[in-house]
This record gives sequence, C-alpha cells and structure tokens, in this order.
Amino acid sequence: RYDGCKRNRGVRPLSDCLFCKIVEGTIPSRKVYEDDSVIAFHDIQPQAPVHLLVIPKKHIATMNDCEEQDQMLLGHLLLSAQKIAKEAGLAEGGYRLINNCGRDSGQVVFHIHWHILGGEKLGPLNA
Ligand code: ADP
Repeated sequence: RYDGCKRNRGVRPLSDCLFCKIVEGTIPSRKVYEDDSVIAFHDIQPQAPVHLLVIPKKHIATMNDCEEQDQMLLGHLLLSAQKIAKEAGLAEGGYRLINNCGRDSGQVVFHIHWHILGGEKLGPLNA
C-alpha cells in the first residue's frame, strides 16, 4: 500500500494536508481516476463545466518542491491527466491544465495539483 504521506510526515504532517486526507479517503471526494501513484477528482467549486484536480498520492507541497527523483511520477501524472481529460470528453474541444505554485499564483492547497478545466470556451488565462 502506498505510504508516501506517512514517509513525508517530517515535511508536512498528514494531519495538516487536505489532499493527503482525500488520498487516504478520510475526506470524501468524487473520484474519477486512481492508480498506484495518482488520483483525480472533481473540484468542489468548479470554475468551468468540467473542473477536475489531478494529484500525486505522494505529498509534494508545490512545484518548487519537486526533485529529480520525482521525474517518473511527474511524467506519469501528466500522461494520466491526458487520459482523464479524454475520458471527460475534453480531447476534441481542448482543455486547460494548470498548476498554481506558491503565493502569487493563488495556490491555497499545498499538496501539488493540476487543474483540468474545460467544457466551454475558456476566458483569458490571467483574468
Ligand atoms: P485556487 O483556489 O486559487 O485554485 P489552488 O490551485 O490551491 O488554489 O486550488 C485548490 C483547489 O482545491 C480549488 O479549486 C478548490 O476549489 C479545491 N478544493 C478545496 N477543497 C476541496 C475538496 N474538499 N474537494 C475537492 N476540491 C477541493
């Protein structure tokens, strides 16, 4: 069983992290995808007709905290996002895949995640 969160307790305790709790299942989510290292679920406050979040099960706080050893995981996550977007019917119309990193980006949940947004013509990126 995956224990990335527990191994990362020193970095950020499991009890502090909303998305670690979603990974563990102690906070419910509307999951659309899961494998050994990645899950995806519906955003609780959708900003588009389709708004999904794709996260690694491993607790990584931000893009700035990714390391060389995360290369496989990050590549796998992006390819998973492609499949998830396709499953959600977004391949033809297209979609936006967004990672917010740190304070200026507006990141509020410090467990790295990618937003998949689509299902309509999206507005300007920095509106
Ligand atoms: P922002 O809110 O600026 O997009 P983030 O990039 O950190 O900041 O995104 C966090 C996302 O997590 C938000 O879109 C928010 O709606 C979503 N969210 C917060 N709590 C939950 C939850 N319990 N289940 C699903 N999504 C959640």
